[in-house]
Formats: sequence, C-alpha cells, structure tokens
Amino acid sequence: MHVFFSRKYNGFFMIGIKIIGWYEQNKRTLPWRDIVNPYNIWVSEIILQQTRVNQGLSYYHKFIEHFPDIFSLAKANMDDVLKIWQGLGYYSRARNMHAAAVFLADQCGGKFPETYSGLLKVKGIGDYTASAIASFAFGEAVPVIDGNVNRVMARLYGVVQPVDALEGKRQIRRHAEKTMIAGTPGLYNQAVMEFGALQCVPHKPDCEACFLKTLCVAYNNGMVSLLPVKSKTSNIKTRYFHYLVVNEHDATYLQRRSDGDIWNGLYEFPMIETGAATEMTDLSASGQWQAWFGRQSARIASASEEVIHRLTHRILKIRFYEIWVDQPPAFKQGQIRVKWDDVHLYAVPKVMDNYLNGRCKPVLSLNSMGKRHQRRDDNRQTGKK
Ligand code: SF4
Repeated sequence: MHVFFSRKYNGFFMIGIKIIGWYEQNKRTLPWRDIVNPYNIWVSEIILQQTRVNQGLSYYHKFIEHFPDIFSLAKANMDDVLKIWQGLGYYSRARNMHAAAVFLADQCGGKFPETYSGLLKVKGIGDYTASAIASFAFGEAVPVIDGNVNRVMARLYGVVQPVDALEGKRQIRRHAEKTMIAGTPGLYNQAVMEFGALQCVPHKPDCEACFLKTLCVAYNNGMVSLLPVKSKTSNIKTRYFHYLVVNEHDATYLQRRSDGDIWNGLYEFPMIETGAATEMTDLSASGQWQAWFGRQSARIASASEEVIHRLTHRILKIRFYEIWVDQPPAFKQGQIRVKWDDVHLYAVPKVMDNYLNGRCKPVLSLNSMGKRHQRRDDNRQTGKK
C-alpha cells in the first residue's frame, strides 16, 4: 500500500505500525479472523456487540451451523432464529438480522453492499457494523469505533472530552483515521480492537509493560484511570416480574412477549408485573390473579428465590411461582396451553431457561404438593421434559 508519510503524521504512523506489529504477535485465534466473507463478519460482529468473545464463540458456531449464508437465514422461521439467539439478549438484533437477510436475498441477490454508506442502508446495520464489514471484507478505509477503540484513542491521544458527546466522538474518529494510515484498514481495525481488549483494558492496564507507554498521553500525565470520559449517566429502573408457572395436568401456559418491551417475540410464563416488591398474599389478591384464577382454587406449591437479572437500563427482580390447578385458568390475552414435554421447543428468555433447567431453588414448598413437584424436577434433571 502506498502511504503518504509526512512529519505531521509521524506520531500516528508510528503508533499504528506498533499496534499492528503487536497484533501479529498476540492476536487470538478466532473463527472470524482473517476472513473476508461479509456474512460471517456480520454475524460475528453482531454477536460480539452483546457478549464477550468466550461466550460468543459457541453462539457464532451454532448460528453459522444453522444458517450458513444469507439465503438460509432469509428462509428461516423467525422462531428458529430466536431459539438459536436465546440467551444472548437484545433480541431485536436477531429480528433485524432476519429482516436484513430477507432484504438482501430478495433485493440484492444475496450480496452485501460493498461500501460503508451502502451498508448503512441495510436494516440493523449501524456505524460500527458497517465499518467492520466495509473494512474487513472490502478494504474500505473507515475506522471501526467501539468501546475498545474509544478507550485506546482517548488514552493514547489524551482526549478529555466525553467520548459519547459530539466533540469527543469527532476527535476519536479523527485520531483513528490518522492512525489507520499505518496499514490496510481491515488489519489496522482488528489490531486496535484486539489491543483494547487484551492490553489497554478498562481497569488497571499493565502500562509498565506496554510498548506504547512513551507515546501515551494518559500514561505520561497520570490520567489512565480517568480516560475515557463518558457523559451519559443511565437511568436504571427496577421492574418486578412474577411468573406464574401453571401446572394443569401435563401442561402449562405460555404467552408471547409483544412489541415495545424487552424480549419481544420470546415466550414466557403468564406474568404479573408490579411496581414494587410484593408478597405472595398481595399477589394472589391482585385483580390480575383474580381474573385468571378467581373462580377456582389455585394452589401455590412453591415460590422461587428472587432472581436478579441486569439489563443495560433495567434491573429485573423475578420470582417464579409453581401453581397447580384442576381447570384451565381464564386466560384471555393470547396465552397458549403447552404440554410440558414441548416447552423446550419455545424460545424463552435466559432467566426462564435457567429456571426450567432447575437452577432456581424453591424457598417455599407446600407439603401437599411437594411430591408431584419434586417428580417433575427430577425429570428435568435427567433431561426428560
Ligand atoms: S500505556 Fe497504558 S493507557 Fe497507554 S496505551 Fe498502553 S496500556 Fe493503554
């Protein structure tokens, strides 16, 4: 590659060269490294936006095994896609991927646009993913800017403006573009992301051992722990979910979560949400409970311990109540009756999957129901559903 090299760019160039050299020696071997297939790059980048590499690996392999290309993903049933995605969170991303695959298969012959600006027009592909695909697959000189890159650029060049505000973003991008001249765009982008993931880590990076310490503004000014600066403080809200695990002979009930809330499209047990922690007696006196179970005696066999589930802007406090009934409850909001043997076929939130796998210990058991309840738990442990 021909490189325009002037004194002005000398520092950026040297840093870029060093980062690429470090990368060649230290990069992890990963299935999406050194490939130019935009589909595989796309899948890996979307998965890595929401999980760490170690956890993302199994999801990546599973996804590619089930949907090896755009056409197989486009043809797939949405429920099957969600089932593969189960546990990753941000289910809107899986739905957007499916919609994008349908669009690319129908309108573009199964091919991705080959430019950053073209990629941005595809549903669910934003700045980060478009930059990754454009540079890794098509060699376009556009920097990938994720949390790792923000941190590395802010520390190396001493960016004190918040990296999530306009001026900070502008400076980070400018520094990244200048540092990129040291190598081919795809190689440079992967190198700087890996450097942030392994060396310039968020907490207590080993700066003494860092090959960039003489050039690093943050290190030389005692600002490593202060950078990057972020302006946004998230407004964390707590929600209380009470799941009613209805046992009616050999069946239970599920409902599908709808638009405009977390876990859209996944299935869950019928649920009562309250604005605060609620005792079981208050729950069974609530209007929702009375509407569903009012005309018959619903026996609460057990309540799980409280499960705390953290999302980006939410904390969910969740309990599961095992309830036994002889007659179908008066459900009216799309709940479906599902045999226990078939529950595992439905895509459910991770926290519910954990419950189904017997990881939640009941804290309250009524003796009269204990034996039946125990028998089903035993079946779950042995893999029988
Ligand atoms: S010296 Fe420390 S802060 Fe600076 S780039 Fe290296 S690891 Fe990051």
